[in-house]
Formats: sequence, C-alpha cells, structure tokens
Amino acid sequence: MEKIILTGDRPTGRLHVGHYVGSLKRRVELQNSGEYDKIYIMIADAQALTDNADNPEKVRQNIMEVALDYLSVGLDPAKSTLFIQSMVPELTELTFYYSNLVTVSRLQRNPTVKAEIQMRNFEASIPVGFFTYPISQAADITAFKATTVPVGEDQMPMLEQCKEIVHKFNSVYGETLVDPKILLPDNEACLRLPGIDGKAKMSKSLGNCIYLSDTEQDVRKKVMSMFTDPLHLKVEDPGHIEGNTVFTYLDAFSNQGHFEEFWPEYSCLDELKDHYKRGGLGDVKVKKFLNKVLQAELAPIRERRKMWEKDLHAVYEILKKGSETAQQAAAQTLKEVKAAMKINYFDNEDMIREYLEKNS
Ligand code: ATP
Ligand code: MG
Repeated sequence: MEKIILTGDRPTGRLHVGHYVGSLKRRVELQNSGEYDKIYIMIADAQALTDNADNPEKVRQNIMEVALDYLSVGLDPAKSTLFIQSMVPELTELTFYYSNLVTVSRLQRNPTVKAEIQMRNFEASIPVGFFTYPISQAADITAFKATTVPVGEDQMPMLEQCKEIVHKFNSVYGETLVDPKILLPDNEACLRLPGIDGKAKMSKSLGNCIYLSDTEQDVRKKVMSMFTDPLHLKVEDPGHIEGNTVFTYLDAFSNQGHFEEFWPEYSCLDELKDHYKRGGLGDVKVKKFLNKVLQAELAPIRERRKMWEKDLHAVYEILKKGSETAQQAAAQTLKEVKAAMKINYFDNEDMIREYLEKNS
C-alpha cells in the first residue's frame, strides 16, 4: 500500500510556533525522509469559514500568509502538494455522504469541538457547519487515502471520528476507504504548546502566539513578557518547573547544541532545571536563553519568507497547480465511493440490465 500523508491548517491567521513544534516541523522531516509516496498539505479555508462565515476577507487574506509560512518552514512544492480545500469540491460531496453515517450525539461528545464551542461563546447558536466539521475532516483525510496524519494532540478526537466513519463505510458499502493513523509529536511539550500567557493552547483565535513571521524584536518582547513561576519572586527563591511556560518552551525547542553555543555553563536542560529548582537562578537569565534558542530556530524561516515574499506569483502558481493535483486525486476516491454506494449510474448501463433481470 502507498504511504500517504494528509494534514493542514485553517487560514485564520499566520502560523505560530505551536504549529511549528506540533506539526510543521514533523511534516518537513517526513517530507525529506523520502519514505512517503505522496504528501498533501491543505489550507482548510472551507473549515475556517465554519466559524468565520461573516468574515470571508479574513480567510481569504490568510491563504497567502499560510502558504508563505509553509514555504518558509521548508515545505517543498516539488515533494509536497500544497492546495486549497475549497478548490476541491469533491471534499464537500464526500462530507454529505459521510454525514449519513454519524449521529448527532456522537458529534456532541467530541471534546475538542466542545471546548471550541465554549471558547467561541456559541452557546445555542452553533453553526451546523462548525458542529459537523469533524465529518468534513474525515472527508479530507479519506479523499487522499491518507495513511498518516501528523497533527497536534487536539486533533485526536477528529482522527477517532474519521476512523469510525471509515469502519462504518467499509462495513456497509464494502472495503473502500483507507484507515488512517495519527502521528503525534513524540516530545510531550509539543503535543499542545501553551500560549505565552500560559493558557492551555497557543491558538490563533486566542491571540497568545509567537508567530513564525514575527520580527526578532517582537519575539524578544514576547519571550520577556512570558509567564513563569508566580512563587519565584526573588532570585534566591526555589523555582517550579511544572506549569512554568518558559521551561515548557525550553522542553519544546532547546537541544544540546543550544547549550554548547549559548550557555555552556550548563551541560543540558536537566542541569538548568535543577539549578532553577534549588534557587539562585533568575527568570530573566532563563528568558534570555530561551530568546536565543527561538531566534536560532526562527531566523532561517524568516529569511526564507522574505525570499518567497518577493515572488508571490510563484506562490500563487504553486497553490493553483497543487489544487489541480489534489482535485484529481479526490475525484478518483469519490468515484470509488459512489460506486460502492451504488450511485454511479452512468459509469455503465448496468441499470438497464438490472431492471430487465428483476422484471423478466
Ligand atoms: P484556530 O484557533 O483557528 O483553530 P489553531 O491555532 O488551533 O487555529 P489550527 O489551524 O486549528 O490552528 O491547527 C493546525 C495544526 O496545528 C493542527 O495539527 C493542530 O493540532 C496543530 N496545533 C495548533 N495549535 C497547536 C499548539 N498550541 N501546540 C501544538 N500543536 C498545535
Ligand atoms: Mg484549531
């Protein structure tokens, strides 16, 4: 069986370092591993519209932003198909058929959707499209016969929902859809990177982000304003690591090389943590180190972005060509789905033969 990746992001804002450690970095590694036959990276504009229906400008403007972020982290259009969701109408059609296989109560149990509904204060006015977006995500994944879906932890319920749809579809209509596997970051801090305010998740919708395209000064300012340990008032006080956002970020971003280059007094992160816990290490010093680590990660991304920004026509063509390629792949799956569901009336003239057999 071919090894195929599908993943994507909503164009609701520029991409941030949570996306980077939660998904983007892994995508680039998988892309360059040469182990995958096909890689599809989707800008999920239709999904973004499910909770931004009255703000289409925002979604439209962020298509270019997300595309630039993709290219600047090292996604390579020669190896990965970058495309826009709504340019593949087959996905909508699949969603419609899959929605017959899912109950309302099953959707209501989805913990990520529940949390998002609360966060957006929808209360009783939840758009139906938003409520059902896990079904459309199942369409996205299965349309490309994805075997592997590299995403952050918040996507786990979506993958479970998708697998249920696959099993249900295959048992009702016969073996047609491919069962995907989720690929989570192996570093715990990267599963769900908190925002700079220490809130549960860095999220475009919460405005607590360090963006990949932030300037050097912005990044420094954001790092210096980050939440640490509220009990660590004086330098001599013993500090706490748990729930200390600065250390969570160091868990997510720092490596041995960073210590050798920027802070050789410590051999590794554990040694730094021990000192902090003992007391005698100030927050500002740790933040300055984190800033150097982040700048080292982000500088090449920033440089590549500047390059692509000079050639927006090329970016446009990449998306256009990618969307055509994606559309062809999804059309093939839709054809198979419709055949399995016996709604492929004009593939052949079997309808006539079936009528005659029944009435002879
Ligand atoms: P929105 O607020 O519009 O939902 P978002 O910031 O949650 O935006 P998405 O486009 O929904 O971003 O998520 C894209 C991908 O990035 C998903 O795979 C998701 O799991 C991952 N991701 C998003 N935020 C984080 C985070 N803070 N830590 C780790 N992974 C994340
Ligand atoms: Mg999200």
